[in-house]
Amino acid sequence: MIPFFSCTQSEYVEKVLSLLKKGARHAEGLYTDGFKRGILDPSAPWIEPQARSLCAEICSITDFSLPEVSCVRAEGPVSKFLLKYKDGLESESVLIPMKFGKTICVSSQVGCRMGCAFCETGRMGLIRHLTASEIIAQVFTAKFILKTEVRNLVFMGMGEPFDNYEEVMKAIRVLTCPSGLGMARSRITVSTSGRVPEICRFAKEADPALNLAVSLNAPNDHIRSKLMPVNRDWNLEELKRAMLEYLKHPRREILIEYVLISGVNDSVEAAFEVAEYLRGMRVKINLIPYNSQSKGRLAPPSSETKEAFRRVLKDAGYQTFLRTTHGDSIMAACGQLGNQDFKKKLGANSSLSLL
Ligand code: SF4
Repeated sequence: MIPFFSCTQSEYVEKVLSLLKKGARHAEGLYTDGFKRGILDPSAPWIEPQARSLCAEICSITDFSLPEVSCVRAEGPVSKFLLKYKDGLESESVLIPMKFGKTICVSSQVGCRMGCAFCETGRMGLIRHLTASEIIAQVFTAKFILKTEVRNLVFMGMGEPFDNYEEVMKAIRVLTCPSGLGMARSRITVSTSGRVPEICRFAKEADPALNLAVSLNAPNDHIRSKLMPVNRDWNLEELKRAMLEYLKHPRREILIEYVLISGVNDSVEAAFEVAEYLRGMRVKINLIPYNSQSKGRLAPPSSETKEAFRRVLKDAGYQTFLRTTHGDSIMAACGQLGNQDFKKKLGANSSLSLL
């Protein structure tokens, strides 16, 4: 079977031709119907009657199966949905309203092995990588089943995308196929905790229009190694070298993400250290107040602390955004995907599920 959701149009046509030795034009049409209209049906009314049997033949060798939407929850304008795959595992995706359309935050793995101290997903450990098809299924579901206009896409859900590099890059090729979903590369952001070899690989291989985000979260190695075990493998100096490699292309800049945690990394001194570390790099900075979690020992910063931190970075000349955290109560806020209690809560109160 040809996996429909992990092919670009030309890959799909090539696979159909290699199996059937015919049907290129019809395969092209089926691909466009599928990805542009969400219609996976060889008897669609606009398909000429004489072409229907060939289209049915092509469909019979294509795997169009989509995972089940196991839950949708909304809190105000933010919503989260779970997809249940054939092996029973689930991924989580979040839809966040922006000025025009929505941003979808997709998962690249079930769980995550990176173990960041502030992250719910990190507590699950890595359960498995998602395939490109399973990543695309999240976008397809948002667009055609949940009827959401998806404008931007960020790999900031469950998982470290660079720990599943091949499938993530394959998913990006499908997302940006002009005859299919046709997303602009400039509207896609891959976010990493700081895996240096893959940052260098991405710098070399990725289209310059794709965006890169790096979770910094600490002003120095001492604090970062405590918060993010990845720093013990690749410290801040090595991370900086990789980021400079990426920035060699003049069109690129990096989004720096920094989760502010009370008493850990949110002091004015820390802000000065961050400003110094980032000197000479084209970056924008996203400050994200830590979201309290059920059993967490960490706490969010006060409003004064957040503002003081932001002021230092702004005064140092960095474009700095202080994010408000939407979606805390549905555990859809940053660092909160993968809460294992979530499913139990749903079981106890089925009215929370909208589907
Ligand atoms: S913050 Fe990202 S990289 Fe770190 S444990 Fe969570 S999902 Fe993994």
